[in-house]
Amino acid sequence: MNNYGIDIWGDDNFIIDGAFVKINHGCKPSIYEIVKQIRDDNLRGPILLRFPHLIKKQIDRIYQNFQRASAELNYKGKFQAVFPLKVNQFPNFLTALLKAGDEHNYGLEAGSKAELLLAMAHTNLAPITVNGFKDKEMIELGFISASIGQDITLAIEGINELETIIESAKNQPDFVPKIGLRIKLHSLGAGIWEKSGGINSKFGLTSTELIKAMKLLKASKLLDKFTMIHFHIGSQITDISYLKKAIKEAGNIYGDLVKLGAFNLNSINLGGGLAVEYAQHKENRQAKYSLNEYANDIIFMLGTIAKNKNVKEPNIIIESGRYIAASHAVLIAPVLELVSEGYTEDDLSLKDKNPPLIEELFDLYKFININNALEYLHDALDHLNSLLTLFDLGYIDLQDRSNSEVLTHIIIKKAIYLLHDKNYSELLNIQKSIEEKYLANFSIFQSMPDFWGLSQQFPIMPILKLDKKPTRSASLWDITCDSDGEIAFDIKNPLFLHSIDLKNEEYFLGFFLVGAYQEVLGMNHNLLSHPTEASIIIDKQGYTIQKMVESSSIIDILGDLNYDTKMIEKSIQNKIKTSSLFSSHLKEQMLKKMAQFLKENGYLKTVK
Ligand SMILES: *Cc1c(COP(=O)(O)O)cnc(C)c1O
Repeated sequence: MNNYGIDIWGDDNFIIDGAFVKINHGCKPSIYEIVKQIRDDNLRGPILLRFPHLIKKQIDRIYQNFQRASAELNYKGKFQAVFPLKVNQFPNFLTALLKAGDEHNYGLEAGSKAELLLAMAHTNLAPITVNGFKDKEMIELGFISASIGQDITLAIEGINELETIIESAKNQPDFVPKIGLRIKLHSLGAGIWEKSGGINSKFGLTSTELIKAMKLLKASKLLDKFTMIHFHIGSQITDISYLKKAIKEAGNIYGDLVKLGAFNLNSINLGGGLAVEYAQHKENRQAKYSLNEYANDIIFMLGTIAKNKNVKEPNIIIESGRYIAASHAVLIAPVLELVSEGYTEDDLSLKDKNPPLIEELFDLYKFININNALEYLHDALDHLNSLLTLFDLGYIDLQDRSNSEVLTHIIIKKAIYLLHDKNYSELLNIQKSIEEKYLANFSIFQSMPDFWGLSQQFPIMPILKLDKKPTRSASLWDITCDSDGEIAFDIKNPLFLHSIDLKNEEYFLGFFLVGAYQEVLGMNHNLLSHPTEASIIIDKQGYTIQKMVESSSIIDILGDLNYDTKMIEKSIQNKIKTSSLFSSHLKEQMLKKMAQFLKENGYLKTVK
């Protein structure tokens, strides 16, 4: 049976039990029963499920691992984590995160004015770090935050920012926030997000600038505010050696800055980058280290450097985002249609006299058996190609072409049926040419933009029928009318799905690990908006569906684009009312329907 690599990416969060994938927590509900319950309220379209217990799990294990490693290596510096808001700012995620992090004094990282205001509103004692480019106004927000007693550190990206802080401090000397300096490292990350590190990176100060910054701080009597150095070499660092190199570099910079007189410098902020395992097949594994190893390496290396440089062991701050948020969200999309499987023998319309190749196809169909299945399948695919060429050249007509398509298709189906108990690898080589297209009710641009933009893989599996062997090589189409809205069958990362009869059964696909970055990066391509979402709270006794937010109505989506929605409604109504083509009774019905449409979300409605 295919377990869709759940043992690789699933982290024990999900289990397959019989036909269903279940949440491995409390009463272990199946995702299917949750989805069914939500759909019983007449909700259609894709649904994003949030599991707050998985946010808590990630936060707790990060703290536990660093506490354990510190104890084992007798490390004296404190450990603190903050959540980078850019990874997910959605309210129902953020409130769950803050609740889960409360006992650890878990803080927030902000990279823009809006994020900073969000952090200020949601924080009391927990630390706030501020990265990214800042203007005077943003720096003043930092002063306001400090003046209301918040533990805020502005991480400086360039000397000019520092100069602005020094200016502001002249007017408000009592409320100067703590200052961090972002350092530009030689060390690079690797992979599709590597650009954040390295000497040409967008952010941070070179060593010459660091020394200059120290002098400026000293001259303006703000050196006591300088408490942190910061770096971030990129997201999804799959190989820990890159991080280790960066830590070595940063640790030595830290030691030397302390020696140069930075008497309050006590923390190193290592940014994010902790990797998530997205792979569904062993060969594609991404995260080549564990959290355990990550914590051990950081504590050990910073401890060693501190000892060698004879300085105090720094407090450690990390800004993991992906690792905290990815697992908590699962997107469920109903399959609307199998684009080619509809053909059966009934669709054939053979003539009294058919072109010879079609007669041959028909024979292949009649005589295919378990011993010749693979060979006949190859022959059929060849014949189809030749027949399509004959059509282009005008030798066969549209009816012949249709017969060739139907025949090839039913031969494929028969071959798969005959071969499916045999070795998969025999079939694997031809999967691409016999793939089935599953049309699913979601938008890749909205719900998995990193697949579209960066070819990032996410685990995909059906949430039911898991006790049956999936036999169809699948490529997925979303409902946007953009040809990029497709997850093509990939022999290196093959997805097999079930043969299903959508007239009589329903079928749902789950897209996992979509909780980091996807929601905020998602775009309303084709005006398809953020899917309906719900938070699922699970305990031993049962589960509850909370904080449902329905996908935006069509009228609201248009409103967000600054259309005059009243005008749009009126315009359509007038066109119906003044039409001379139908009766006033029909008009009334139509107007009612139109009002209803505008209030509903834009995803398609499955028949059932
Ligand atoms: C994006 C970002 C992070 C988060 O990185 P992850 O890989 O999601 O952990 C942390 N710090 C800074 C400065 C960032 O820009």
